[in-house]
Amino acid sequence: MRPVSYARATDTAQAIAFVGGDAHAEFIAGGTNVIDLMKDDVARPSTLVDITRLPLGGVTPAATSVRIGALARMSEVADHPAMQTNFPAVVQALNESASPQLRNMATIGGNVMQRTRCTYFRDVSQPCNKRAPGAGCAAIGGVNRMHSVIGTSTHCICAHASDLAVALLMADAIVHTRGAQGERAIPLAGFYLLPGSTPERETVLERGELIEAIEIPVSTAARRSVYLKVRDRRQYEFALVSVAAGLDIQGGIIRAARVALGGVAPKPWRAHDVEAQLIGKPANDRTFAAAAAYASTGMRGFGENDFKVPLSDRAVERALSMAEAVA
Ligand code: SF4
Repeated sequence: MRPVSYARATDTAQAIAFVGGDAHAEFIAGGTNVIDLMKDDVARPSTLVDITRLPLGGVTPAATSVRIGALARMSEVADHPAMQTNFPAVVQALNESASPQLRNMATIGGNVMQRTRCTYFRDVSQPCNKRAPGAGCAAIGGVNRMHSVIGTSTHCICAHASDLAVALLMADAIVHTRGAQGERAIPLAGFYLLPGSTPERETVLERGELIEAIEIPVSTAARRSVYLKVRDRRQYEFALVSVAAGLDIQGGIIRAARVALGGVAPKPWRAHDVEAQLIGKPANDRTFAAAAAYASTGMRGFGENDFKVPLSDRAVERALSMAEAVA
């Protein structure tokens, strides 16, 4: 048992000052990730700064976007009519995550900040560069069926765990933060970092910088979107490969396309090559199959996860077909 202090923040500035001023302090809200990591002795915070009393909840629709407070619960967001109308892929990603109990507890901000499910990361007897920089990576040459096939490095091949973040990337979401230097609006596409030689650094957030909200622009493609999650069992399982796909189709022609993958990279992965193949083409199975063949461009497996490369192409093809069928 390791001692840990608890502090309840009464305003945002106080929360930022708490965590910004202590290299080992952590924010806690739903607690569904950090408490797990503490039980495994992976996270060893000096202080847990409780932000649940801050006014950062709710779903707020506006004319051109919907703003989701960082403390909004996953289930609350999935049930909101503005989300169901404008962002079906986001709602599906939320409903395909974890379990109903966890979705009632976990927050949107916590979801996008969740750590990898790499088993070696969560086993302190194993070498892991993300948990202990310089220790090595047990997954390279080890059990790596769930690991990444693109965006990896010789230091880390873990996969990002969030379903929600994949759908948010497809929808061009923006992360609104506040820190010691003030406010920032960070496109989700630039929010996550690849492991490179510093896998312990996962986002562009500075110490103490707090996610206040996530804003999703309303668009025709996001309104006609789906989230397809391929996994070993139907419930309570992480993705082997997932796809968020959105299409803007006018007169049978694809005017805009957005495709993002999960389960294949250390961050949600935008399939720009696939999108480029779709624009201006007729929305039919032949177009989808030809474009989906570009999903695996640049992918390579590490043995047990080789199957993810062809599976990515097939999952994208199916997701595009499902998006086309959205009324
Ligand atoms: Fe650690 Fe990344 Fe290697 Fe997993 S893949 S053991 S998280 S360094």
